[in-house]
Amino acid sequence: MNDQAATGTFFLPGPTQVRPAVLAAMQQPMIAHRGARFEELFDRLQHGMRDMFRTGRPVFVGACSGTGMMEAAVRGARPGRVLSLVNGSFSERFARIARACGREVDVLEARPGATVQLDTVSEALGRRRYSALTVVHSETSSGALTDVRSVGALAREHGVLSLVDSVSGIGGAALECDAWGLDLVLTASQKALALPAGLAFAVASEVYMAHVASAPSRGIYLDLEMFADAARHDQTPFTPALSLLFALERQLADIAAEGVTARWARHEAMANVTWKWAEGLADAIHPALGLLAPVGGRSPTVSAITLPATLSSDALVDAVGDRGFVVGTGNGATRDSTFRIGHMGDHTVPGLERCLEACSDALSELIRLR
Ligand SMILES: *Cc1c(COP(=O)(O)O)cnc(C)c1O
Repeated sequence: MNDQAATGTFFLPGPTQVRPAVLAAMQQPMIAHRGARFEELFDRLQHGMRDMFRTGRPVFVGACSGTGMMEAAVRGARPGRVLSLVNGSFSERFARIARACGREVDVLEARPGATVQLDTVSEALGRRRYSALTVVHSETSSGALTDVRSVGALAREHGVLSLVDSVSGIGGAALECDAWGLDLVLTASQKALALPAGLAFAVASEVYMAHVASAPSRGIYLDLEMFADAARHDQTPFTPALSLLFALERQLADIAAEGVTARWARHEAMANVTWKWAEGLADAIHPALGLLAPVGGRSPTVSAITLPATLSSDALVDAVGDRGFVVGTGNGATRDSTFRIGHMGDHTVPGLERCLEACSDALSELIRLR
């Protein structure tokens, strides 16, 4: 993205940096949301969002954070047991939501940074009958990327619905909703889409929607059947977050100009720069420094970098902040032992390189002091 802010300073793995032009779009006056102007807006947004999800299906638009759509996904899944793939705090949250919504849940666990092996998933699906499985595409707490295409294929073989959290994936990491046959893919506005927080999106397959009416307690606010009914008339079931939709409209126009696959390629390029940099830290600064996620299982949008036991992530984040860049501490089990860089959204390689330089500088200084 070619404007000045694209090379800015905010590299938190969510919320991510929002460009001034996108923020400015929110200043537009309100319009009546039950009227033709809104319906035209909704229709325009559908084009861009379908392209983003790689789907011909309607994209449901909710006024909630990502967790709202995670709950909607579980609530709308036909009755039965849930299998949850857990490899960090967001995938753990998905399992907790399923339990809280009254499902019996079996968990397949991998350590933070790793992903649950496909043969483990396959065995589990063969052992017991499940209604759905939950999986996180890009586990933002650890920087691990799960092969949701293969997981989705295994689920389908067993007649199990695949519920995919791609909150830090969509818009940054390649995902083909229709071609990969995923049953429910959800995302949120404040990660790779580089928008303010407050919007969540989901696409449900025909199979998922065919059984949604049999889901016992869908509630009202998160009932995907109501989202589907409303979307048929270019509407949302409840009052839409209009100002955020104005921001989305602006952002989708810029994303279309870049191209979705070019956007994925830019994220790949930023990830490669980050990985190469992180892999050099052990020799350059301290042997404990490195990437939490192994080669082949790394997200193109976020990296968690391991720290020596003598250095806390809070101290490092502060020292990087003193140099003008915002990065994140670790999250969940690796809260203190890693720090995270969000190389997603509208950032570019040159802007990211400046951030990595600041991180190197802060790491060298803090480790030399010890
Ligand atoms: C940010 C995020 C969420 C959603 O969190 P909210 O706080 O509800 O927006 C869910 N899953 C993943 C992988 C995330 O990165």
